[in-house]
Amino acid sequence: MKVLLVEDEPKTAVFVKRGFTEEGHVVDVALDGPDGLHLALTGCYDIVILDVMLPKLDGWSVLAQIKLRLPLQPVILLSALDAVQHRVKGLDLGADDYLVKPFAFSELHARVRNALRRGPPREADLLRLADLDMDLARHRASRAGQLLDLAPQEYRLLEYLLRHAGEVLTRTRLAEQIWDINFDGDSNVVDVAVRRLRRKVDDPSEHKLIHTLRGVGYVLEARP
Ligand code: CA
Repeated sequence: MKVLLVEDEPKTAVFVKRGFTEEGHVVDVALDGPDGLHLALTGCYDIVILDVMLPKLDGWSVLAQIKLRLPLQPVILLSALDAVQHRVKGLDLGADDYLVKPFAFSELHARVRNALRRGPPREADLLRLADLDMDLARHRASRAGQLLDLAPQEYRLLEYLLRHAGEVLTRTRLAEQIWDINFDGDSNVVDVAVRRLRRKVDDPSEHKLIHTLRGVGYVLEARP
């Protein structure tokens, strides 16, 4: 397991790092908010353990930025602030858990195990193609870490495309599956919806995933 610890207090940093290292895990430590955020966004960590009171950029801001860019990244907040409103704020910002200082290493370790059991989500709840992710448990989709703002029908269409990635999907099939209508050839409901979805999914990226087979339908696939 690869752990990122963002903690400015040397005693806590040493004690947490030693604990995880002894368990055979790799631990990187960042001593302030900006360093922690940079590492979190670039280092591919299994878990981020994040202190709230940090120099330069506080843990709330770091957490918000991480969740914006990497919605699936598990994060546990550490804080001396025990007030209910702080716990609620942390959880509302997307933290998986919140641990009040001082704490025993064994408790932190247990909470990390627990957070990793819950998330990242089970394989079946996660659909992925290239840098397009759909988290069914949390009902959200992201491309290159950026959350996509999808209307309900766009979400269902994208889910269907992802479940059948690489297959050619005719307009008839999409109309039946997503809209529960018989496609009469005149209707452009499918094309309009695909166009809207494409704007959100493909326009911001160089690598297009939704492809048109003229006169036939659509296919979702990553092409080199
Ligand atoms: Ca601190």
